[in-house]
Amino acid sequence: MPGPQDFVNAIVGWYKSQLERCGGMPGRARALPLATAGRLLVAVARRRRPGAAVALVASVAFLACSGSSDGAADGAPRVVASTALLAEFARQVAGEDVSVTSIIPPGVDAHSFEPNPDIAKRIARAQLLVVNGYGLEESILKLVVANRRSGVPIVVAAAGLEPLAGGRHEDGTETRHDSREGREQSTLSRIVGAVLGLVPGRGQDEAHEDEEHEDEEHGKELAERLAGEERLMVAEGDPHFWLDVAHAVSYVERIRDALVAVDASRADGYRERAAAFIAELRALDGEIRAQIEAVPAARRKIVVFHDAFAYLGKAYGFTVVASVLPANPNKQASTRQVAEIVELIRRERIPAVYAVATLSSQVLEAIAADSGARVLPLHELLGPGAESYEAMMRANARALVDGLGR
Ligand SMILES: [Zn+2]
Repeated sequence: MPGPQDFVNAIVGWYKSQLERCGGMPGRARALPLATAGRLLVAVARRRRPGAAVALVASVAFLACSGSSDGAADGAPRVVASTALLAEFARQVAGEDVSVTSIIPPGVDAHSFEPNPDIAKRIARAQLLVVNGYGLEESILKLVVANRRSGVPIVVAAAGLEPLAGGRHEDGTETRHDSREGREQSTLSRIVGAVLGLVPGRGQDEAHEDEEHEDEEHGKELAERLAGEERLMVAEGDPHFWLDVAHAVSYVERIRDALVAVDASRADGYRERAAAFIAELRALDGEIRAQIEAVPAARRKIVVFHDAFAYLGKAYGFTVVASVLPANPNKQASTRQVAEIVELIRRERIPAVYAVATLSSQVLEAIAADSGARVLPLHELLGPGAESYEAMMRANARALVDGLGR
């Protein structure tokens, strides 16, 4: 006799064929209604009401077919978030009517992401832009600032939180800060120029001096288009706030307020969904705290590949004792640094070191081989093994307990 799972599979198959029939649905617009259909199906199948399931799925398929090509319902805002993680937060709050897409896809390293021309168009059509801030969006900042329509707000999710030093997502811009012109610029425009990649690095200075001057002007122009809180896009400080769940709650609150501001007609829905998601996040925080109690205080020392876990450490009582690439994940660690870390691991008897899932870390493998420590992954962003924020944080907590627990 077919069980509930067979029933679900059959309906999902039918639903997919309906979507195919609609044609021209971009993958990202398809994914959301499909996920919704899955949730509805499981809920209904548990109550053993197949008729209701069919009706629900048919209506979801109908909505998916009749919506605009990017999935936004009539009058609903189009939201473009920088990372898949911020898009997930926005989706949790925005609900099904609103189209939410991300610029940097999951599993792609934010440090080395290369934008394509389609992204400029999506930014230009957005009614709300969601970014993290503190330099995380270095690779797309220029695109965002140059293409958003006038009056379209940029929510900086990390605004209002106290930044720690370090953890920069940048490409050797320290050297750029040393240029003569660099010293003469105001702090903000200097940072904007560097972060936007408008001031060439050392070694190119002479060949590009004129260009540099024009770029500098352009950088100042762009900086002037960033008003108030938006300036935090280029602020100094560690951008990885979201790895503390309490900070994620603050992100969700900011996104909720921004959605309410751009689309008051759906304010009640935004508030309800945000409250439900925040309750889930608080439960997740408690779960993580309970789990990491398995790690004795003396063993709460973490060695990481990329300096992304200072907020996670601070929130959950771990100290980051070494990071292989403290300033820039695209740079090479020196032999002396590597030797020092190996020595530290041996001296402190640290049983595990942590790689970042989206960055290759041969140096870390070598450190582990030399010191006898295991290599485990920590996730800084969504990707394989961290398909949602909650999955990511659970995987991180598990990795800490597995690596350092008794
Ligand atoms: Zn990072």
